[in-house]
Amino acid sequence: MTTPLAAPPVGRRAAVDLAAIREQWGDLLAAIAHPPAAEWPPRETRGGFLDQLAAADRTDDPIPAAPVIGRLPLTIREHPAPLNLDALDAALDTERDLFDLADAVAEQVQRPVRRTPVVLRSLPPRTVVREDLADRQNPGRWHYQTPESAGSRAYGLHWAAVWLEGRALGEKYGDLFTPVPALLLDHLAATAAGARQAVERALGRDGRSTALDRPCPWCGGRLTGRTRAGGEPVVACSTGALCTAPAEDGRRRGEWRGADLIALWAALAVDRQQPAA
Ligand SMILES: [Zn+2]
Repeated sequence: MTTPLAAPPVGRRAAVDLAAIREQWGDLLAAIAHPPAAEWPPRETRGGFLDQLAAADRTDDPIPAAPVIGRLPLTIREHPAPLNLDALDAALDTERDLFDLADAVAEQVQRPVRRTPVVLRSLPPRTVVREDLADRQNPGRWHYQTPESAGSRAYGLHWAAVWLEGRALGEKYGDLFTPVPALLLDHLAATAAGARQAVERALGRDGRSTALDRPCPWCGGRLTGRTRAGGEPVVACSTGALCTAPAEDGRRRGEWRGADLIALWAALAVDRQQPAA
């Protein structure tokens, strides 16, 4: 499969939004099992190193995070008592919207399963028309839901997003798909954009700022956390360039992002173990 350079901008935009949705899907599912973040950065945005540092700090956590294997096959599981209803609603809405969208796109661009005549060795021999099994099982195919089977929905949102990305970019798959007509591509892009917004809103990644409940461990300034679309958390100290926190090479004083957050997070964790003044 190759991506034709000719994919129209609206298709490329849709593919970017769909990729953002599936990359954040595990975080959204994990968020369902936790109370809405009163802490910052939202626990699900603390990748790798921050997680390890936070582990000691988390022993009082009564609910283990949902298991996330890599970032893969993520399906919404039964939550007897979801703690974050906004995240659950966003996940259910997103899944439904993308599944319905894949149905609609498949209906217009996917070739029906080939039917071939088969001669039965009966007496007298009879010819029946049967679906081509290999064509039906073509892994590129989107399968509709039936009363007996969940079809492609069984593979979860991740696959639906990947499949839609392929259609948005006009990827070829033999003669299985025809190009997505312009109107349908607009609908695809609008649905993907709306779904991405809903996911990022539920994760607090839509650009809102959050005041941290602890002051800057070095200068006592107010700390404000912000998670931008796509997920990179940034913390700023209100003292700005006069903040006395040690600044590594090239880091802007009074601001932490990416790997720099590790120092801030460690200092806050130590601070948290002291009784609040
Ligand atoms: Zn400071």
